[in-house]
Amino acid sequence: MMILVGTRDSNVKNGTILNEKCPKCNEENTLHFSIYRRYTHLTLIPLFPVGKLVVINCSHCKETFDYEDLSENIQLKLRNEKVDTTLWMFSGSIFLVAFIAFSINNYFDKKDETSILIKNPIEGDVYNLKFSNGYYSNMRIDKVTKDSVYTTHNNFDAYMPYEIDDLDKPENFSDQKVNYSRRDILKLYQEDKIIKIIRKSKKLSFSN
Ligand SMILES: [Zn+2]
Repeated sequence: MMILVGTRDSNVKNGTILNEKCPKCNEENTLHFSIYRRYTHLTLIPLFPVGKLVVINCSHCKETFDYEDLSENIQLKLRNEKVDTTLWMFSGSIFLVAFIAFSINNYFDKKDETSILIKNPIEGDVYNLKFSNGYYSNMRIDKVTKDSVYTTHNNFDAYMPYEIDDLDKPENFSDQKVNYSRRDILKLYQEDKIIKIIRKSKKLSFSN
């Protein structure tokens, strides 16, 4: 996807400046203004407003004026025009913030869940692993006793953490049986070598 960054102007208010004369033709109540809000966008999704733009012209002599060309009185009247900052100009930012908050929350939820599950391994759990050589894989818990955890390691490795879940197929676990003490398992978790636990069994189990 191509990402476009840019600014756009949105017309937010139009009106007439009352009781003021045109600096050129001196007619009264002929000055019309249009206020634009400039906002940045990311592929046309508005991120946030960045400024205001005012266009003034006279309906009588058709002259167009810059804000700076006008008398202080007229400038003041223009400044007092209330322009709402419409929420949609922030829609991209709101979405981004919500998305980031969701991701962070999700990350901590998962971390929290793992820290609870690690204390009570049960048959069928799949532990995602990070090896010291930089590869990833997982292991299945086959049996748990009072002080040991019997596992089968996956026959395959992954290069990226998000690929680990794809390795979780029954045929990938064959003969790499590895036994750990419960203390070893906790140690692996504390050393960040066990990075995620997938509990398949929905049965509640209690450790004592
Ligand atoms: Zn005029």
